[in-house]
Amino acid sequence: MRRYAVTEFSRPLCMVVEDDPVPHGTEVVLDLQRCGVCHTDLHLREGHYDLGGGKRLSLAERGVGLPVTLGHEILGRIAAVGPEAGEAVGSLGRSVLAYPWIGCGACHRCLSGEENLCAAGRCLGVHRPGGYAEKVVVPHPRYLIDVEDLDPSAAATLACSGLTAYSALRKIAGDPAQDWLLLIGAGGLGQSALRLARALGHVRIVVADTAPAKRERALALGADRVLDPADAGARAELLAVETGLAAAIDFVGTTETARFALDGLRRGGRYVVVGMFGGEVTLSLPLLPLRALTLMGSYVGNLDELRDLVDLVRRHGLTLVETETVPLDQAEAAMRRLEAGAVAGRIVLSHRA
Ligand SMILES: [Zn+2]
Ligand SMILES: [Zn+2]
Repeated sequence: MRRYAVTEFSRPLCMVVEDDPVPHGTEVVLDLQRCGVCHTDLHLREGHYDLGGGKRLSLAERGVGLPVTLGHEILGRIAAVGPEAGEAVGSLGRSVLAYPWIGCGACHRCLSGEENLCAAGRCLGVHRPGGYAEKVVVPHPRYLIDVEDLDPSAAATLACSGLTAYSALRKIAGDPAQDWLLLIGAGGLGQSALRLARALGHVRIVVADTAPAKRERALALGADRVLDPADAGARAELLAVETGLAAAIDFVGTTETARFALDGLRRGGRYVVVGMFGGEVTLSLPLLPLRALTLMGSYVGNLDELRDLVDLVRRHGLTLVETETVPLDQAEAAMRRLEAGAVAGRIVLSHRA
């Protein structure tokens, strides 16, 4: 089998040819069909996140060792199952989506179903080999969700981009029929969130983006209002919405977008940060209790949320993001295009001609 791995930070992917994996214990081997190319893959290859103010978060210190085979939006057919993988034998040949945000399986977070928050994560495509490869080993069949009836490219993106948008939406309390929701950033994640928010019954959605084309797109997808956060009047417009702004989800995550969201929220409002573009903010602490604000981060999502999301997408016939499918051997070129900002939706690698 072939895999495309990062063998040195900030360097192009290397193709490695090796023997096909043999599943042990509860493991399941997938013959890959699709794998999405995500911004996180760019960070993993660079080896750090920009924390703002010149500071960096090293991924090596967070347990990411080299070589790493990238790719966490993994969809494939069950090709082989280990002797203890039990019921998965009956699903041989089925097309499944893999939940990649796997934890240690033993800590309190994992046992309470929040494996994505485990401090000793063993995520596919991060800590263990991912989907920029012809085959992937998944440690247990419980991480697999049958998606035989869904479009494979679109379904692959649910494991990260879709799940990230969905989990963030689940964190905003309130009444979707009454409360105004602000989505900052109308790129792939923002568009997914917009479509999901509509499916979840949100009717008062304002989308902020500095790019006119993305604002147009957001209107076409059902946003009630769009704003350019760089516009002098945008803040006042946000403050003027009837009943006030109840929640903001920030898919960009810069100093400017944080300021925009925090200034716009009503009393009791929630600010959920998803994007990791990089930046920092100074907060006046008395304003947190006085305005009863909640600040929170949202990182991907848990296994139950991914199951719920697949179900929601299936029931509503949703396509969350436009996908462009390219062959696996173009993984490096796909990453470069993403890095250059030249991707409108999501590039998905295809493992079959
Ligand atoms: Zn991702
Ligand atoms: Zn754990």
